[in-house]
Amino acid sequence: MGVLVLGGGVSGLSTAYYLTKKLHPTSIYLWEASERCGGWIRSHRNEKGIIFEQAARTLRPKSEAGANTLALVEELQLSKDVCCVLSSSPAAKKRLIYVNGQLHALPSSIFSLFKKIPPFSKPLITNFLNEYKVPKKQVKDESIHDFISRRFGHEIADYLINPLICGICAGNAKEVSVNFLAGQLFEYEQSYGNISKGLLYNLFTKNKGLPQSSLLDKAKREKWNVYSFKNGLETLPRRLNEYLNSVGILPAINTQCEKIEFSKNEVIAHNQNSSLKIKHLFSTILSEQLAKLIVDQHPKLSVLLESIKSVNVAVVNLHFKGELIKNPGFGFLVPPQENLPILGVIFDTCSFEQNGDTVLTVMMGGHWFQKYFANFEQDEQFYNVALNYISKILNIHEEPISHKVSILEKCIPQYSIGHKATVESINNYISTFRLPISICGMSFQGVGVNDVILSAKKSVNNFFKNQ
Ligand SMILES: Cc1cc2nc3c(=O)[nH]c(=O)nc-3n(C[C@H](O)[C@H](O)[C@H](O)COP(=O)(O)OP(=O)(O)OC[C@H]3O[C@@H](n4cnc5c(N)ncnc54)[C@H](O)[C@@H]3O)c2cc1C
Repeated sequence: MGVLVLGGGVSGLSTAYYLTKKLHPTSIYLWEASERCGGWIRSHRNEKGIIFEQAARTLRPKSEAGANTLALVEELQLSKDVCCVLSSSPAAKKRLIYVNGQLHALPSSIFSLFKKIPPFSKPLITNFLNEYKVPKKQVKDESIHDFISRRFGHEIADYLINPLICGICAGNAKEVSVNFLAGQLFEYEQSYGNISKGLLYNLFTKNKGLPQSSLLDKAKREKWNVYSFKNGLETLPRRLNEYLNSVGILPAINTQCEKIEFSKNEVIAHNQNSSLKIKHLFSTILSEQLAKLIVDQHPKLSVLLESIKSVNVAVVNLHFKGELIKNPGFGFLVPPQENLPILGVIFDTCSFEQNGDTVLTVMMGGHWFQKYFANFEQDEQFYNVALNYISKILNIHEEPISHKVSILEKCIPQYSIGHKATVESINNYISTFRLPISICGMSFQGVGVNDVILSAKKSVNNFFKNQ
């Protein structure tokens, strides 16, 4: 009996990839509901050869997860296709926020912490120095906004954290758990009383065994900030798929799992046409989607899985003739307190040049999708909102040469307060009932591409450790 991987996004493809290191390919199956593998990672090329990224566009080389992806990229022989943004480039250094009708550059160096930079009312260094004096508050979990407000003051929470959470998960920092982004800082407070002490302790004790690769060395040497590939980020899932094909695994596309049944030592997965008996299931689909497949047999587990909700995002890619960005940078984010219907705009061509033209991506919705777009029925309405704000904020009044509107339904899970405890309960349930399933993907251990690849690798390793 073999194993089945559910979902052909980058999580599912990398799960199957790591499985090939341990199992014979003939015992690995992969089902993908849609007509292609790659999931949300999709790089469209328009008729002029310009790349529009539908969702994910760049990867960070830092952290354990970043180093792991670099090692994977190298193993897949994709190193020569990598294109990077150096830390010294404007796209890495200049991040803007739109507050009170104006764009403001966020502090980007140690020196800028000593200056008063609007919209902040005083030099940020004072917030960091005062953190040492803020008493510890014993809590199990809280919103990232509350935590940062408490430790560093409300301006940092409003102008740094609010837009950051919009940019990373299209979420509301007042509802997203501190563990989503600042789990380490939160642990420092809970263990050492304040963050400064925790950081110092960590500085002297850290010993991280990062996955090594020549690409990681290169990224460190050249000081990469982020990277992608010459033909867009979809190069990565495409190559994973090619690799799987080359060893004899053909992902079954248009194959949607509709129901899962567990028995003592096996699982039966049903799709629209047939059923498959396997010894273990690796689910990489959204928690909410998995909930529906197991509800008959495990209603309590289904309720837990169902509680991790995802939001919709509208993405509008715009291609303009010539270079129109007057103030090059990564792009700008809009804090929710500004009450605008856009989350932010990415200046794609400031990171990766494309024939001297300008490519921008406007992100909208997320946590506020229903508030602003409940009545929208046509792509053109999203396009008009995007153009309106491009013209108002960036003073770009030209007509785009081409554009693409994508409405991504349930595309980013929200790690609400209590998320960590929910994931623990899900894992406890699975181990108590000895269900032959491993869960990875975006809903559990991080929403970024690096996170889901590392989570895939760990799931596979844990499965073989427990055999
Ligand atoms: C707008 C946006 C911007 C982003 N930007 C970045 C970024 O710049 N950098 C970054 O690191 N990350 C970014 N991300 C996150 C990144 O896209 C995700 O981490 C990644 O795509 C998750 O891959 P996945 O395989 O876990 O999920 P998915 O891509 O959702 O793949 C899951 C697959 O499972 C299939 N499936 C679902 N149900 C079933 C079923 N019942 N049976 C069979 N198959 C099923 C789906 O069709 C899908 O193909 C962004 C995400 C969004 C939405």
